[in-house]
Amino acid sequence: MALLKLENLHVALEDGTEIVKGVDLEVGLNEVHAIMGPNGSGKSTLSYAIMGHPAYEITEGRILFDGEDISELGADERAQRGLFLAFQYPHAIPGVTVTNFLRTAINAVRKARKGENDPMPIPEFRKELLAQMDRLKVSRELASRYINDGFSGGEKKRVEILQMAMLKPRIAVLDETDSGLDIDALRVVAGGVKELVGPEMGALVITHYQRILDYITPDHVHVFVGGRIVESGGPELAKKLEAGGYAPYEGVTV
Ligand code: ADP
Ligand code: MG
Repeated sequence: MALLKLENLHVALEDGTEIVKGVDLEVGLNEVHAIMGPNGSGKSTLSYAIMGHPAYEITEGRILFDGEDISELGADERAQRGLFLAFQYPHAIPGVTVTNFLRTAINAVRKARKGENDPMPIPEFRKELLAQMDRLKVSRELASRYINDGFSGGEKKRVEILQMAMLKPRIAVLDETDSGLDIDALRVVAGGVKELVGPEMGALVITHYQRILDYITPDHVHVFVGGRIVESGGPELAKKLEAGGYAPYEGVTV
């Protein structure tokens, strides 16, 4: 059974407007799924709902993780089980350094898994952090700065992937991680994702453009329009979208 399973997922905003209108999707370890859709189709809403953002309500259907219904769980509990979301628009947290943020997050997950405090020894944390920062070409100077505070667009996206590399989730959802990256940064970030996908991790790559998929070949591509998956296929579907855009799908009802 797939690790992450969405069953007839419907998601509404706080005012009741339905944005995600019945999504079925299964993502397993060692798999890369791409969700491709135009702006405003509800991709970020879907990713927030998967992660448990309180402003997005599941009105129908459910989310299973490792066979457990996690639809009612908070974002922290989902993270403890191994879900991770890289935000399209990461928020700054003035007062919290990148290092402290990562240590706190890692130790919270370790505590939840062990049922008692089990902090990662500082030398081990430091060694891992520096290795991952170098690998993802994140400037070491960022480690002691407040997270995302005054970071460039590219720095924010790299730090999102740094969080993923440090937290080692089982399923990573990447919401437009490619947007705002130049080609060199895209290559580094995509390479970082690709290295982690394997028997320990699967990924759901959400994107508007097929560009990132030149670097991370998806096993499955899903076209997402108007809050629904309107077509699924293999990597060739991404090429077709690049050539034809989303217009052929507008007005499609499933
Ligand atoms: P995408 O990520 O595909 O561009 P979004 O999920 O961001 O799409 O948005 C889908 C629709 O939901 C848009 O019309 C957007 O304005 C609306 N929407 C999403 N989140 C909110 C929110 N918190 N408040 C109001 N409208 C929202
Ligand atoms: Mg979005």
